[in-house]
Amino acid sequence: MKKKLPITGEFKRALPVVKRIKEAGYEAYFVGGSVRDALLGLPVNDVDIATSAFPEEIKHLFKKTVDVGIEHGTVMVLLDDDSYEVTTFRTESAYQDFRRPDSVTFVRSLKEDLKRRDLTINAFAMDEEGNIQDFFDGAKDLDDQVVRAVGKAEERFNEDALRMMRAVRFASQLGFHLEADTFYAIVVNAHLLENIAVERIRVEFEKMAKGTYLFQGMEAFVETGLYSYCPGLKHTKHDLRRFANLPNQLTSNRQVWTYLMYFLEMNSSKEAVAFMKGWKLSNQVIHESTRLLELIRWRQHSSFTAIQLYDYSPELALETERMIADLGFEASISHVEEMIDHLPIRSRQELAINGKYLMNVTGKKGGKWLGEAIRKAEEGVVMGHIDNETDSIINWLNLKNEQ
Ligand code: ATP
Ligand code: MG
Repeated sequence: MKKKLPITGEFKRALPVVKRIKEAGYEAYFVGGSVRDALLGLPVNDVDIATSAFPEEIKHLFKKTVDVGIEHGTVMVLLDDDSYEVTTFRTESAYQDFRRPDSVTFVRSLKEDLKRRDLTINAFAMDEEGNIQDFFDGAKDLDDQVVRAVGKAEERFNEDALRMMRAVRFASQLGFHLEADTFYAIVVNAHLLENIAVERIRVEFEKMAKGTYLFQGMEAFVETGLYSYCPGLKHTKHDLRRFANLPNQLTSNRQVWTYLMYFLEMNSSKEAVAFMKGWKLSNQVIHESTRLLELIRWRQHSSFTAIQLYDYSPELALETERMIADLGFEASISHVEEMIDHLPIRSRQELAINGKYLMNVTGKKGGKWLGEAIRKAEEGVVMGHIDNETDSIINWLNLKNEQ
């Protein structure tokens, strides 16, 4: 594994921040997931910077900063329309409750900071020339495709039980295996997950479920027994394995929850909503996933008509069609795409008439009839019975009225 990387892309953009800190006499490094991903040749998104400078010192060095998490040592530096998170080297002492440390101590040593990180593959630092600092043989683990806790796995999971979820999440994203000690430490400590806020577990679970190597991540999640301590997943081993056999990578959280509930065979929407509430999902995700689940089931014995595409939103219908295909049912993705392309209107606003116009033409006041007339016009236009033009719509409505 290379011990030096070229400074390009996001790192290059953030370089002025690192250089400014160094010029002032402090240490500064790129750390965390960005260095891991760069070493793997994967795209790098946000870069995190760690420094020996204390938060107040960082605030003195830059004109514009925002206190985003100053109690944890994180200051956001705003420079040239971009923002960068700069975090002071720190250690975390005494975990009383298997989650957040009792206190955070700022330190001046890089190694101390890297020591408190979760996994060896997340504990690299890279300087402004691209030299990699690797105190815990993370590079070897990247080569061997292994997820290993920094230090004693058992201790590290006792400090913060979320790290166990993170370990399986990375197995799923990277296609790595859990190193044996790390694996057994999770088996023994999986129950500690009960101390962790559901929202934090959910973030890692969703990332796992959307991983490129879901099958591998899910095996780790199931084999370690972690799944038993997640909301509503006790005794669902076989369903989870069926879920992990989906042929394509999942692209959204609503897909994650919809597929999951499908494999869990949640039959009533009441049951589905209770399950999702257990995971503290937002109302929006709950709403969308309930809808998708209904559509997937409905689609197994019916097919979309133009008016349904229009009513359900074309995007949701197309997503349903793709999901149906991945579930092994007969689907007609290109046909649905074509139907969507040919929809004469996408919303009521695009209709050539509106309520005001109809009231003028008929001389009638608003009322129930008006909503019904607009709906009829919508159906007529969408189904291709009439053109979206004022005259044809008025004729069509008259015809209907005379019946
Ligand atoms: P991603 O690419 O998904 O952002 P990441 O590794 O950057 O992955 P983050 O959650 O952004 O993950 O965390 C940034 C870094 O902070 C990690 O790489 C790791 O070094 C450290 N870290 C995060 N969570 C923990 C934790 N629970 N315990 C110890 N270290 C952690
Ligand atoms: Mg990150």
